[in-house]
Amino acid sequence: MKLVSIVVPVYNEEANLRHFYEAVCEAMKPLTDYTFELVFVDDGSKDNSRVILRELEKEDERVQPMFLARNSGHQLALTCGLDHTDGDVVITMDGDMQHPPEMIPTLLKKWEEGYEVVQTVRVTTEGVSFFKKTTSALYYKVLNMVSTVPIQPGGSDFRLMDRIVVEAFRKYREHARFIRGLIVAMGFKQTKLEFVAPPRFAGVSKFSFRKMLHLAVDGILAFSTVPLRFGLYAGVLSGIISFFLFLHVLFVKYVENDAVPGWATILACVLFFGGVQLFILGIMGEYIGRIFEETKGRPLYLIAKDKPKNEKKE
Ligand code: UDP
Ligand code: MG
Repeated sequence: MKLVSIVVPVYNEEANLRHFYEAVCEAMKPLTDYTFELVFVDDGSKDNSRVILRELEKEDERVQPMFLARNSGHQLALTCGLDHTDGDVVITMDGDMQHPPEMIPTLLKKWEEGYEVVQTVRVTTEGVSFFKKTTSALYYKVLNMVSTVPIQPGGSDFRLMDRIVVEAFRKYREHARFIRGLIVAMGFKQTKLEFVAPPRFAGVSKFSFRKMLHLAVDGILAFSTVPLRFGLYAGVLSGIISFFLFLHVLFVKYVENDAVPGWATILACVLFFGGVQLFILGIMGEYIGRIFEETKGRPLYLIAKDKPKNEKKE
């Protein structure tokens, strides 16, 4: 029997958990060669999710909940789950039914064919706002222009990973992480599967605009130093512009003999270069902030007192 670990980050999903659990059981039933464990990582939920997870754990020993001490975000909750699984193969998915559990057998089939990473790609998402769709498409365009690894538009964190990939993934300990990019950068034998993401079963999206923006910035800054190079380009550009401005100044002063006060020009220059400098400073600040975060070497997440049953290793 092969063990499939299913890792599910959970943040205020009380209305989805039971339904999700049943759907996973249903999907796994026909797969007689496999047993599974459901590793729910509660990301500091404030609703009844913890209680429901506890109940599920009592009813079914395959349910292995873990509880983080506070809301650490989807990417770190996923990381925590991946750190604490020991299946032969691991599947990460959302608990809101947007990553259809019926697809699990298809993912496993790909794994049996020999693939070590099966990445899923959302082709369309039902019931998603026009705003989210267009910003997402635009974001992936920009990301791919600057990123050192190709990142699939519509990529999601619904994927299958072989044990060997999970072990390798555990060695990556950076804080600001964009798992979608990390996995691509790691290599191994990868393939893609397309799927249509249905609307959430219940509840609302836990990704506020702020969280989306953070993830988006992490994605770009973690896979690219191109923004830092803007400084160089902007510097060269402003150097050239300044040179011509200087010629113009000389011309006005010595040829036209008409050294007007010219405060407008000065003001324009000050504003322009001030803007350029602030922009570059901002970019540098972003990177330096990250250096600061990483050098602190803080733990990525903290597990609350409610220890999971399968606490082992460490
Ligand atoms: N989630 C989490 N921590 C957070 C935000 C979300 O663990 O801070 C979980 C959430 O419970 C869900 C998954 O991550 O299982 C994806 O979140 P959501 O469905 O809200 O995102 P969307 O599908 O709208 O992008
Ligand atoms: Mg969702």
